[in-house]
Amino acid sequence: MDIQKIRKDFPILSREVNGRPLVYLDNAATSQTPQQVIDSIVSYYHGYNANIHRGVHTLSQEATDAYEIAREKIQKHFNIAKSHEVIFTSGTTHSINLVANGFTSLLKEGDEILVSAMEHHSNIVPWQMLCERTGAVLKVIPMDHKGELEMDAFRALLSEQTRMVFCNHVSNALGTINPIEEIISAAHAVGAAVLIDGAQAAPHMKADLQELDVDFYTVSAHKMCGPTGVGILYGKEEWLTKLPPYQGGGEMIAEVTFEKTTYADLPHKFEAGTPNICGGIAFGTALDYLNEIGMEAIANYEDNLISYATEQLLAIEGLKIYGTADNKTSVISFNIEGIHPYDIGTILDKLGIAVRTGHHCAQPIMDFYKIPGTVRASFSFYNTEEEIDVLVEGVKKAKQMLA
Ligand SMILES: *Cc1c(COP(=O)(O)O)cnc(C)c1O
Repeated sequence: MDIQKIRKDFPILSREVNGRPLVYLDNAATSQTPQQVIDSIVSYYHGYNANIHRGVHTLSQEATDAYEIAREKIQKHFNIAKSHEVIFTSGTTHSINLVANGFTSLLKEGDEILVSAMEHHSNIVPWQMLCERTGAVLKVIPMDHKGELEMDAFRALLSEQTRMVFCNHVSNALGTINPIEEIISAAHAVGAAVLIDGAQAAPHMKADLQELDVDFYTVSAHKMCGPTGVGILYGKEEWLTKLPPYQGGGEMIAEVTFEKTTYADLPHKFEAGTPNICGGIAFGTALDYLNEIGMEAIANYEDNLISYATEQLLAIEGLKIYGTADNKTSVISFNIEGIHPYDIGTILDKLGIAVRTGHHCAQPIMDFYKIPGTVRASFSFYNTEEEIDVLVEGVKKAKQMLA
C-alpha cells in the first residue's frame, strides 16, 4: 500500500486544525471522503440530477441506471445472492428501525429477544421499543472484562422462546470482533432470526453474507469513505417478503386506490419516497475505491497500526485500555487514571488531533466498566505511524498538564 499516494486522495487530510496538521483519529464516528467519491457526487449534480424509477426522460434513466448499478456493486461486495435483497436506507439506524418495526406483527407476549451487552444505542433502543409494543422480553448477552461476549452464557440464554438475536460484528466502543458465525448458527438452531450490525466492521473487513447465512446485516456508507445519510439493509428474501413495509409513500406501491393499496416488489416495497440518489451512487464509488486498494491489504495495514498504537499508548504510565479482546480491530478506547476523558480530548484538539470522548453511543459498556466514558482513537487505512506518534506525544502532554 502506497500510503502517501492514498493520503493525497483525501483533501481534508492536508488541512490544519489549531495551527497544526490535522491528525484524524475519529474514524469510528465517520470516515473521510476521497476525491473519487467527491467527484462522483459533483458529476451527479453537474450531469444527470433527476428523480429515479419514474421518468421517461434521459436524465431520469441515467440516474436510475447509476443508482441500480450502485446497488449491484453493494450486492457484489457483500456477496449477496439477489440485488433486491439490498434495501437502500439512510444508514444503520434506519435499517435497524425498519426491521424492528416489521417484527411488531410477528412477535407476541413472552417471546424473547437477545441483544449483546456491547451494542450501539441504535441496536438497543429500537428493540426496547419493539418489546413495549409486543410484550416481548429483552435479554442481554453478557460480556467479560476483556470486552468479549460470554458465549456459554449466550448459549444458555437461547431457548424455544428466542425469536431474534442482535449483535454487532465489531464494537464501535471497544473494537471487539464478535464471533458472529457461532452466534448465527447457534441462534438458527433454535429458530431465531439474526441481525448483525455491520456498521463498524464493513470499513475494515469484507463480510460474505451468503456464507454467514445471516438474516439481516446493516451498513452505513459514511463509515466506509462514502457520504452521510445513506446505507443499506441486507435482508434474506424470505424475511423481506414476510415483513410489512416500514413507510408508506411514493415508489413503494404497485397500485393505489382509496379502498386498497398493493405494495411494490422488493426492494421498492421498503424504499418509500425519493431516496438519497446521489448518496447511493457515491456509496458505490466508495466501494470501488476500497476494492481498488483491497480489503485484505486494508485489514493487514490497520492490524499493524493498532498493534503499534497499543504498544506505544500502554507505555504511558496510568493509561488503561478498555477492550482487550484477542480478536479486535481499529479502535482503542482508553483513560488515564484520575483524568476526565473530555479534558484529554480538549487538549488533543488544541494539538490538531481529532479523537472522540464520551460513551460512544454505548452507555451500557461504560456502566459495565463503571466509568463516565473513554477517549477513543479509531484508525483507518489512511492513518500512519507518524500520526500515532503525534497522538502519543499529545496524550503525554495532556497528562502532564492535567495531573
Ligand atoms: C455508527 C454506528 C451505528 C450507527 O450508524 P448511523 O450511520 O449513525 O446510523 C450503529 N452501530 C455501530 C456499531 C456503529 O459504529
